[in-house]
Amino acid sequence: MNILILGSGGREHTFAYQMTKSTHCSQLYVAPGNAGTAKIATNIALNVNDFEAIKATVIEKEIQMVVVGPEDPLVNGIYDFFTEDEALKDVMLIGPSKRGALLEGSKERAKEFMAMHNVPTAAYESFTKESLAAGKKFLETLKAPYVLKADGLAGGKGVLILEELDEAKAELEQMLSGKFGNASHTVVIEEFLDGIELSVFVLTDGKDYKILPTAKDYKRIGEGDTGLNTGGMGAISPVPFADEALMRKIEERIVKPTVNGLLKEEIDYKGFIFIGLIKVGDDPYVIEYNVRMGDPETEVVLPRVKTDLVELLQKVGQQELASASLEIDERAATTVMCVSGGYPEAYEKGKEITGLENIEDAIVFHAGTKEENGKVVTNGGRVMAVTSFGKDYQEALKKSYQNVEKLHFDKMYYRKDLGKDLILS
Ligand code: AMP
Repeated sequence: MNILILGSGGREHTFAYQMTKSTHCSQLYVAPGNAGTAKIATNIALNVNDFEAIKATVIEKEIQMVVVGPEDPLVNGIYDFFTEDEALKDVMLIGPSKRGALLEGSKERAKEFMAMHNVPTAAYESFTKESLAAGKKFLETLKAPYVLKADGLAGGKGVLILEELDEAKAELEQMLSGKFGNASHTVVIEEFLDGIELSVFVLTDGKDYKILPTAKDYKRIGEGDTGLNTGGMGAISPVPFADEALMRKIEERIVKPTVNGLLKEEIDYKGFIFIGLIKVGDDPYVIEYNVRMGDPETEVVLPRVKTDLVELLQKVGQQELASASLEIDERAATTVMCVSGGYPEAYEKGKEITGLENIEDAIVFHAGTKEENGKVVTNGGRVMAVTSFGKDYQEALKKSYQNVEKLHFDKMYYRKDLGKDLILS
């Protein structure tokens, strides 16, 4: 089949990489893609939120499956656009409907869904400008630190964790006055959960599910988890502390009620659920749902999936996932993200990347790159993720780092401490 992947990051390069291994993939397109996807597929210059332009491409290229990488088009209703259009209704779109995507698009909705279906999560209440006084009162009933979340999509910046009550009250007021625009029109205040985080990835056809490998990502720019939040500086899969007992609890208490909840509420959902979890003591709690794969988690999760990815996604589209088998590579995978100096604040683009030809025993997944006059140059903050395998994450990391050292561009930066927290924990 002809397949179109929407997006331009390391996540989409990884999807493309896995799909080129499939015997079911004829023509592979990535829109807009990057210099990495251009090497293994055909890039098409498209805006992922321009549904009419996507429709025209799907018809022209006779595309039978569309895989949506980022959340925006999903929250904007690309699934519904496809199912409601006569010319597109036979195209498989991998992703949830607009109602399903609200689990990421609205934190308040996600909390209501969890409460309704008994999925363990932090206690919460939500507030608007009209209920600011009640919000401040609610904060007084909680213990520090205080967790404030903008309801809508805020580019990963909408969660504030504050130590002081006065500061929390002031931030609540600012958020409700438009600190994050419409996204913070409603603010969810929740109980702080003290524990260690991990992510679980689920593939569902809306009825059945498969649990993909777990991953842990590194969000902060600085070593020792310091400094500003980023899109992700690296990831490790599997998560060493996600043992069988914890995974059983996650499946029974979280994955099953989530998928059953979708079914009960008659929500069309054919795609990935990325569940952000926190382990408090021995028990898992949901911090957030995302309605797509994570980046850079995809760069370690998908390479461990040995089952033909296209076949798996076809079964999702046909709602026959129950009949699919899932084979996982037992080895650990790690990825180290190379970023532009200055990221996540101001940085320069257009720096030539060298050393790609020297990579051994690793895969370079491109993110912010493009080809210019026969050279690969930087084109974003997060530039490329270097994934390796090993018998454990330490061995895999060693190979990732050995290869990162062969790569170069002006002001390249990466964290050298990935995995160190796991040795201490
Ligand atoms: P979110 O965007 O909801 O994933 O939140 C961003 C980050 O804030 C998470 O990855 C956690 O590190 C932290 N966080 C969110 N909610 C809580 C909570 N209830 N307790 C402790 N930390 C939290």
